Amino acid sequence: MSNDLFNSFMTGPDENGRFGDFGGRFVSETLMPLILDLEAEYEKAKDDPTFWAEMDDLWKHYVGRPSPLYFASRITEELGGAKIYLKRDELNHTGAHKVNNVLGQIILARRMGKTRIIAETGAGQHGVATATVCAKFGLKCVVYMGAHDVQRQAPNVFRMRLLGAEVVPVTSGRGTLKDAMNDALRDWVTNVRDTFYCIGTVAGPHPYPAMVRDFQSIIGKEVRWQLAEQEGEGRLPDTVIAAIGGGSNAMGLFYPFLDDKEVNIIGVEAGGRGVDEKMEHCASLTGGRPGVLHGNRTYLLQDDDGQILEGYSISAGLDYPGIGPEHSWLHDTKRAQYVSITDKEALEAFQFSCAMEGIIPALEPSHALAHVMKIAGDLPKDHIIVMNMCGRGDKDVQTVARHLGFDMSDTEGRSAD
Ligand SMILES: *Cc1c(COP(=O)(O)O)cnc(C)c1O
Repeated sequence: MSNDLFNSFMTGPDENGRFGDFGGRFVSETLMPLILDLEAEYEKAKDDPTFWAEMDDLWKHYVGRPSPLYFASRITEELGGAKIYLKRDELNHTGAHKVNNVLGQIILARRMGKTRIIAETGAGQHGVATATVCAKFGLKCVVYMGAHDVQRQAPNVFRMRLLGAEVVPVTSGRGTLKDAMNDALRDWVTNVRDTFYCIGTVAGPHPYPAMVRDFQSIIGKEVRWQLAEQEGEGRLPDTVIAAIGGGSNAMGLFYPFLDDKEVNIIGVEAGGRGVDEKMEHCASLTGGRPGVLHGNRTYLLQDDDGQILEGYSISAGLDYPGIGPEHSWLHDTKRAQYVSITDKEALEAFQFSCAMEGIIPALEPSHALAHVMKIAGDLPKDHIIVMNMCGRGDKDVQTVARHLGFDMSDTEGRSAD
């Protein structure tokens, strides 16, 4: 499936799960039957109106969809150019977009008669979303988490336990997200009869990247009608922009616009301390190269010997060492543009959003906003930008305080320096 063989970017992946040279299913023989079974069940569910009716009902009453599309008038005025709209997915139950996808996978798991859900998590956000939906349905939930991450992300570990999940610290390898993924896959093969593996971003072997994208596409679908009808713009946005860890909130916003060639698409990666040879970043597309990880071929952070490198970002939710294969394809075909934003720029955008709109954003979408701040001023006033505000900032307040030198233990509110 190369780009010149067909005219639509929305028909991917092909029957082998390939987006151009990316994606596929690089898994052991033992996993293959599980993945084929999942694919068949997903294909059935996708064409079943009762599946989507259940999703719509829960999206509305449990998650709180549709999330608002909000005209950020003070940001727009301050930047002095393009009109900025924020898609408010931070207002979802659990505070981010992840629940959109988890709900889809768990409804599918229930249709397949599975009673035990497993997941892996890095920063803990996907683990919390999975534990949440499992509690809602009374399903057993096991979350694999690198031992190092268990220590770093104690509040999310406690949330998962409150929600009834078992959190398994992974000590194999270096005790990070990549090792947790391997343990989750091992668990799945061992407990295939009752277990469903719930992946948190547009990665993994086919059909996960396409399936997760389909569930998150509710974001872009809502933007289309909200902008045209509700906001009275009567047209499509000129630019859509989102932050990228594995790439699921971005794919969810981008996908419904892929075949509207006049819509600019921009993905923003975490540039950490700078995209250079020190590799203190998570910019897989702007600073990595193709390889195989987590069952698919895509751009990865790796050293000269092909060892996967641990990414670094101020935002733990962006430190996935790869990127969803569909993004790699959109990058190579140039349908989308990918840029990177440093920690410092993201911190400035975080504060800008707080001060200008009264919205405390997560550090992930602060990266997207930082890029909006770079480009909006040079664009005409009738240019419409829609940015995905994919998560709220409560979880990041401690981190930001530390970086800004604010001492949280100082009850007089003096800043420490
Ligand atoms: C997990 C997370 C991300 C990164 O995941 P994607 O798959 O790239 O969307 C971004 N923002 C927030 C708020 C998250 O919780």
